[in-house]
Amino acid sequence: MKTETLEDVLFPGLHLTVRQVVAVDDDLIIDAAGCGPPGRCPQCERPATRVHSRYWRRIAGSPVGRHTMIVRLSVRRFFCDQRQCRRRTFAEQAEGLTEPRRRCSAALRSALKAVAVELGGRPGQRLCAKLRLHGRRTALLEQLTAPAVPDRAPRILGIDEFAFRRGRTYGTVLVDIETSRPVDVLPDRETSTVAAWLSEQPGAEIVCRDRLMAFTKASARQSPTHWRWQIAGTSSRTSRQPWRRSVADIVTACDSPRHREVNELVATGMSLSAIGRRLRLDRKTVRRYRNKDLDDLFASAQDRGHGVLDPYIDHVQHRFKAGCTSSMQIYRELLALGYTGGYHVVNRYVMTTRKGIAVPARTAPPPSPRTITSWIMRPQGTLSPSDAAQLEAARNACPEIVSVCDLAREFTDMLRHRRGHQLRSWIQKAELSGPDAIGVFADSIRQDLKAVTAGLTLPYSSGIVEGHVNRIKTIKRQMYGRASFTLLRARILLQP
Ligand SMILES: [Zn+2]
Repeated sequence: MKTETLEDVLFPGLHLTVRQVVAVDDDLIIDAAGCGPPGRCPQCERPATRVHSRYWRRIAGSPVGRHTMIVRLSVRRFFCDQRQCRRRTFAEQAEGLTEPRRRCSAALRSALKAVAVELGGRPGQRLCAKLRLHGRRTALLEQLTAPAVPDRAPRILGIDEFAFRRGRTYGTVLVDIETSRPVDVLPDRETSTVAAWLSEQPGAEIVCRDRLMAFTKASARQSPTHWRWQIAGTSSRTSRQPWRRSVADIVTACDSPRHREVNELVATGMSLSAIGRRLRLDRKTVRRYRNKDLDDLFASAQDRGHGVLDPYIDHVQHRFKAGCTSSMQIYRELLALGYTGGYHVVNRYVMTTRKGIAVPARTAPPPSPRTITSWIMRPQGTLSPSDAAQLEAARNACPEIVSVCDLAREFTDMLRHRRGHQLRSWIQKAELSGPDAIGVFADSIRQDLKAVTAGLTLPYSSGIVEGHVNRIKTIKRQMYGRASFTLLRARILLQP
């Protein structure tokens, strides 16, 4: 057993003598003095030999029991007697307690910093008051200084965007994939900004990114030919998202009464949120139903006219009767025949023609596109018997789901087992036999083929970046949208 002194408890490892402890209201005032060997001159680093004077410093410390600790520290000022040194005197620092010009102890400062990083200014201030930490809001915010951006980009760099507020403005977060730490935060998601960053901080060999066009351009602009490009192929969100979108589009197309309902309410001037509440739909889903593309999708060909397609109608009808119902496939054939219109015109016409294909009447409410998507994306054999049966029913109800389902499973298989070499043949199959949405997706992959192949072959994933984007969401919620970009950036980069 070792007897602990008051000094050992309050200032472990420091050369301080406690002279007096006085409680004044909530404050515990501790008079202490430095008693160690003379300090070293900060300029020449030689030890001092003479004391110049003493003065008092007031340092706020960590709380003790129900008290706020204040250290009244008698500090020595020393002469520096080295002739060649420009410094005449210097004050001693109690390492671990005081820092030049700071009025908080090092321990209190690290506590304030932890609170500030986790909670930000105002909520942090409230917590500090409860914990008796002397942290005014400004003192808290002072702790939030973003660390310097490294000179070189990490070898494996993750890039993703995040929404600042309600999806109206976006920023970009850059993450070191190997250490999982954020490296920088950019105030927008412009190609030029990302490209400038990549040229100012060279050194990235592999970039894990979302398949956003802006970043695609930025990386292409900056990439020396030997760069291996990587998409976020193996991450859950980004790999599923295109599928979710594709599948959702197909299933909603089979679900027209809901579409009509939404648009009738839209016509009355009701807000999207109100419609969502009335129909028990997510606001985003309501927006998708209101979407102009869907209007197009359901509009009859007679209503809209399709002049640019007129010369090719015979061909389309002929191919359709021969069993080719893929708008993408037909669109490609028409291009070869000299057609100059857009894909959507062909798609609209094919959809109208296809309307005759019956979708069996449903008695129970159909599962949502999101649910069907999650069934499709899960590895086979992990579905519960009832989910498997419902998926089977969905497959029977909609021939396109069968095709989507099989293509999606092949694709996830490529992801799981890193068979990038199979991508080219998968794309061909998707374009030839897949539903249009998958065809469009496959076509977009073809335009980014190298990166996607790399993404399906290399072991890196942008799952880590995604984790950071989620953390950013939490930080933003705490800041109630009031935070400046500088503050938000500092909190993102000061990862605990
Ligand atoms: Zn000196």
